[in-house]
Amino acid sequence: MTAYPARCPGRNLNGRMCSNRAGHNTSHPGYGTCSWHRGGHQHVEEAWAMAQDIAAERNITPHEALLGLVRTASARAAWTDAIVANAMHEHVEAGGDPFKPPATLNTWLKQSREERKLAAGTAKQAVDAGVMVALERRLDLEGELVATILGGVLDSLDLSHEQRMAALGTAQQLLLEAGQGVPN
Ligand SMILES: [Zn+2]
Repeated sequence: MTAYPARCPGRNLNGRMCSNRAGHNTSHPGYGTCSWHRGGHQHVEEAWAMAQDIAAERNITPHEALLGLVRTASARAAWTDAIVANAMHEHVEAGGDPFKPPATLNTWLKQSREERKLAAGTAKQAVDAGVMVALERRLDLEGELVATILGGVLDSLDLSHEQRMAALGTAQQLLLEAGQGVPN
């Protein structure tokens, strides 16, 4: 059942892999980072507690549970963005100014920001819990995760709606091009 390394996935300052057992000196022994590598931080402890609950409920591993949370949060953010993009498309089709989003979109733009913030927070939790490090050795980062991180970066820049829409448009285009050949 456990295909993941039972070692802490953290690295020491000299770049070497941590030699502690996974979850050493934390309340999640056998999983994630040791107490030396943020494993004992409150948000990491909480992430693993939640992951254990979900894992038991759905008969999956806690790693899968944590990644599932990241995916769900990303999907929610993508969904609100799709609504915004669709509404903007209709607005422009109807002759509206592409740099003046209709007022009805403000709620969705706000929602989109909040979903992205949540998704970025969930992703950070998973990163700090050591799940991503374990995964990086096997998989490339998924496009949706890239979008989540990108959304977080855009949030931190505090752009205007217009600048944000333009930046997201460019990023979406690049991501679409990068994702070509991947089945929908
Ligand atoms: Zn460690």
